[in-house]
Amino acid sequence: MKKVLLNEDRRLEVVEASPPVTPPGGVLVSMKAAAICRTDLKMVQSGQKDLSLPRILGHEGVGEITGSHNPSFKIGTMVAIYPGIFCGKCEQCRMGVTAKCEKIKIFGFNKDGFFRSIIPFPEEQLSSLVPFPQGVDPERAVLAEPLSCCLSAVDKFRYVKKERALIIGAGAVGSIFAALLKMEGWKEIILADKNRERLSRELPEGVEVIDTSKSSLLESLKDKGVDLIIPACPDGLNWPFWEIMNPGGCVSFFSGNRKGNELLPIDMNAVHYKELTLAGSYGCNIGDFRSALNILVEGKIDITFFQFYRIPVEGIPDGMGVLSRQEIKKVIINRF
Ligand SMILES: [Zn+2]
Ligand SMILES: [Zn+2]
Repeated sequence: MKKVLLNEDRRLEVVEASPPVTPPGGVLVSMKAAAICRTDLKMVQSGQKDLSLPRILGHEGVGEITGSHNPSFKIGTMVAIYPGIFCGKCEQCRMGVTAKCEKIKIFGFNKDGFFRSIIPFPEEQLSSLVPFPQGVDPERAVLAEPLSCCLSAVDKFRYVKKERALIIGAGAVGSIFAALLKMEGWKEIILADKNRERLSRELPEGVEVIDTSKSSLLESLKDKGVDLIIPACPDGLNWPFWEIMNPGGCVSFFSGNRKGNELLPIDMNAVHYKELTLAGSYGCNIGDFRSALNILVEGKIDITFFQFYRIPVEGIPDGMGVLSRQEIKKVIINRF
């Protein structure tokens, strides 16, 4: 079997390894699809807050049970892998906030992730495996992780009126947000990016675009305003967007700012008088993950606009290059 390591000098290395054995009470998962996300690329280029090295990256993946010492997981079952290992007992876990588990370990961050052929799961980690029906395309199910992060951000705003939403950043996550808001019945979805090329492809139908290299968002939106704003890129809220927020509007802090830009001026009076709701989000809880997988399995969301770049697991260094040159929005590993 193969695994792809990110070494201490942040160099990617494809390593041949002997296959793992099935842990007592646990299972073996043979990977069927994994995806490279921009966070993986960021880890290679500059590291990440929760990353420790050396590490097998990868936190978006699905596979098939090919070894089992547990009656709850039969051989042949397809599973999507929740990106964290949580204890299930602490206060956060009991409230369903598994992403904030006191003992959380994140695949591909501080625990070896999915860029390898076979992964052993001991019994105490089986709660991270969410089965889905045979026949569902693994390339579709593999989007459960990014979709669940988007779902978790949007779910914070239950009372917003679904009129006009602005998403900043037209990468894979921006496109998934657009597809999610479309599914949820938003009337107008606007995607903004300074890269015209990214605005020209791999978007859900009916989404409006604003090329911010040509026109300012404040100018373009000052007359109609927006009810929801989501940054799907770093520093996405580093402009006076408060002016275009409609009364009762919602601001998602889905992305942070680059180091050194953490402090953002908050327009206190805009928040106060317009009664804005601000909510942060980072990662996803197991409930979001199950919901996202269900949405994908039942075909409720249209993601057919993606033109995946498909590679074998040993092609990950190449896939990182394709992603960094922004030639494609999503790179999928489909051969292990
Ligand atoms: Zn990701
Ligand atoms: Zn816990």
